[in-house]
Amino acid sequence: MAQEDVFKKVVAHCKEYGFVFPSSDIYDGLGAVYDYGQMGVELKNNIKNYWWQSMVLLHDNIVGIDSAIFMHPTIWKASGHVDAFNDPLIDNRDSKKRYRADVLIEEQIAKYEEKMEKEAAKAAKRFGESFDRELFMQTNPKVLAEKQKRDALHERFAAAMNAMNLDELRQIIVDEEIVCPISGTRNWTEVRQFNLMFSTEMGSTADGAMKVYLRPETAQGIFVNYLNVQKTGRMRIPFGIAQIGKAFRNEIVARQFIFRMREFEQMEMQFFVRPGSELEWFGKWKELRLAWHKALGFGDASYRYHDHEKLAHYANAATDIEFKMPFGFKEVEGIHSRTNFDLSQHEKFSGKNIKYFDPETNESYVPYVIETSIGVDRMFLSVMCASYCEEVLENGESRVVLRLPAALAPVKLAVLPLVKKDGLPEKAREIMNQLKFSFNCYYEEKDSIGKRYRRMDAIGTPYCVTVDHQTLEDGMVTLRERDTMEQRRVAITDLESIIRDNVSITSLLKKLS
Ligand code: ATP
Repeated sequence: MAQEDVFKKVVAHCKEYGFVFPSSDIYDGLGAVYDYGQMGVELKNNIKNYWWQSMVLLHDNIVGIDSAIFMHPTIWKASGHVDAFNDPLIDNRDSKKRYRADVLIEEQIAKYEEKMEKEAAKAAKRFGESFDRELFMQTNPKVLAEKQKRDALHERFAAAMNAMNLDELRQIIVDEEIVCPISGTRNWTEVRQFNLMFSTEMGSTADGAMKVYLRPETAQGIFVNYLNVQKTGRMRIPFGIAQIGKAFRNEIVARQFIFRMREFEQMEMQFFVRPGSELEWFGKWKELRLAWHKALGFGDASYRYHDHEKLAHYANAATDIEFKMPFGFKEVEGIHSRTNFDLSQHEKFSGKNIKYFDPETNESYVPYVIETSIGVDRMFLSVMCASYCEEVLENGESRVVLRLPAALAPVKLAVLPLVKKDGLPEKAREIMNQLKFSFNCYYEEKDSIGKRYRRMDAIGTPYCVTVDHQTLEDGMVTLRERDTMEQRRVAITDLESIIRDNVSITSLLKKLS
């Protein structure tokens, strides 16, 4: 199946099975805002739990907080967001569509890469098993020509972004002959800066309302609480503070479903370290975070690091963990060595001393910070894309199955009476009532058993049990596994022990420690 088709199908599937709905659906939606449905919220909560527990359960030097969305407006002055949280935007005069100039250029870079990949794929087909990909990529003239174009563009783009040279960004778009995908024309406006923060007013306008922002990241809530937590929690460096919460960005171009939203959720952890040790910790967190992703079992080839060449002015190292989405490798998580920039800025703007006294060295200093920052929604999208699967079965029928890691699946077990009579529903309810304390169970009695299995496959339920007439006599049920579709008879009394360990978040966490 073409990758674009996979993505379209995932989007449709999310709506059809109650994972994600457009916000305000009956009013035709609201741009880049989405609601999670009955299945989506379970999957999302499981992702959050997996992250939260991997941080605060597995590390005795990491604690959590939950800070408010509204914060003192000076915080966003201090952090640099008021002055510099901008994207370069450009409009196409014919289609009246607005784009991020940097994204248009990045897509152009990706096009050169696609061309290189296409050449490689063609050659792989031609040469079969004897194909040496590495040699081909290094020597084939067509590949080298594309590579040269890509590298030249990349260099020019990085220089323009570093200097935030808006004229040069526009010139690149013109020189590369980039067209608007809607109108097909090159009738571009100038490139302008656009601040991504939403603002609103606090207090009534009569007594001089204060302009406040909806936070564009959760990190600042951690920074301004760092000393509160350090003192009351008697934390010693190195230590971390984790937080999950909503963030808001007025994204210029909001496409690709929940990949880029205006209201989204972040899971961020700021790790406070001694100055000078930050790059060592940066390396450690890079590894730990990749291991967290890989433990989900989607295959190591689905991930790659993207080390930043262009560093934010406050960072001395940064990398993204990218996931292979149907529309290419995309950032899911950022890991940044933020130096002591944020804390020093808050010290300056608040006028308060927020230095840490290190009892081991007898020194006071502003700690350095390693940040791990991941979007819940992007993670959700990556999990859905990696799990969505259409299969043709041996009997020629096809099925859609969400191969979700069992620990993330919204429903762990479906309990299905074979028929709606003869005491089978009652028996099934009895089983539900025993197991519902251990994991999320789902009862369903409508339609044929085959149809019910298909519905459970489509929402990624790892196990189904069928209660039949025999069950009433011997206390055994048919246990069916989602991925293999294997069925076996097991005793009702064994169900909990068979299922619980496989579906618990603990099963994932154990892979990490
Ligand atoms: P991008 O370059 O894609 O705009 P970013 O580098 O600005 O992302 P960060 O500020 O590093 O992103 O935010 C950390 C994480 O938050 C990202 O890796 C992503 O998973 C998530 N995120 C950021 N912006 C959005 C958004 N608009 N919608 C959904 N998730 C987002």
